[in-house]
Amino acid sequence: MYRDLHRNIRRWYAAHGRLDLPWRNTEDAYRIYLSEVMLQQTQVSTVLERYYFPFLKRFPTLEALGKAPLEAVLKAWEGLGYYTRAKNLHKTAQLTGGTLPESIDALMQLPGIGKNTAHAVAAFAFRQTVPVMEANVRRILARLYALERPTEKKLWELAYDLVDKENPFEYNQAMMDIGAMLCTPKAPKCDLCPLQKICRGKNDPERYPQKRKKTVPTKSVTVLLYKQGEKLGLYKRDGKFLHGLWGFPECDAPPDSAHLIGSVTHAYTHFKLSCDIYVSEETAPSDLTFFNVSEICKIPISKVDEKILRCHLNMKKA
Ligand code: SF4
Repeated sequence: MYRDLHRNIRRWYAAHGRLDLPWRNTEDAYRIYLSEVMLQQTQVSTVLERYYFPFLKRFPTLEALGKAPLEAVLKAWEGLGYYTRAKNLHKTAQLTGGTLPESIDALMQLPGIGKNTAHAVAAFAFRQTVPVMEANVRRILARLYALERPTEKKLWELAYDLVDKENPFEYNQAMMDIGAMLCTPKAPKCDLCPLQKICRGKNDPERYPQKRKKTVPTKSVTVLLYKQGEKLGLYKRDGKFLHGLWGFPECDAPPDSAHLIGSVTHAYTHFKLSCDIYVSEETAPSDLTFFNVSEICKIPISKVDEKILRCHLNMKKA
């Protein structure tokens, strides 16, 4: 039914696709799975330039990852954010003993593997005839069928219908590249697109899909830097948020003797965090451990704690 379309997509991919991405040139399911998890919230260039290879060097197999302490995994993940991804990778490595299952249903039983990731692993690592679904593919499908607010169910139906049953691997990679390079959120290049012939949304592509407006609340907190000489006090987080990372303590109100050194903000998916930073030389709570700056650089801390530390160092220089 889509024979000509699939041929056009394959030709476009051969000429313009990102064929040299390392996770497209391996049959190692772990390497493919790792790339899928890293790419969930992070751009290809960032993953490629800074995280993918160092992580693989540190944990070359899923088995090695499962045997490593969580703190070492979090340290290697530092800077990528969304640490639940790293914790779920680690749990999956432990639960599987180093071998991922091949079926989509079994993959979806594992921590952090939802429908999209299970399809991507099945399609790319195990070469199954299933479509992949990520933000770029969603956008293409909505535009192809001129759907302003498609449901998940509808998108999956369309994706299964459209997938190239003979060359699913190239087709799926091509769809992701077309979304990233041609069918971009703003000013898509429809005149270069191999899907142009059947695309119902090409006359007004930015209309599809309609964005849901999100209002993100701001949470304000007071952070206290307890000092002992050149050392700063941190605690190991054990709540749900940033669990396993070290962080600077928060308080309801700073003591009178503490002084404000600055503020930092950080955007998370569901809220924005605004931190006023105070320095205190009073007696610290007993659950804090004191580290000098070079020691802090060796333990896993979150992006916002990195910003707090930088604010403190800048103040010292000023
Ligand atoms: S023709 Fe345009 S809107 Fe349609 S899929 Fe291609 S780039 Fe996207």
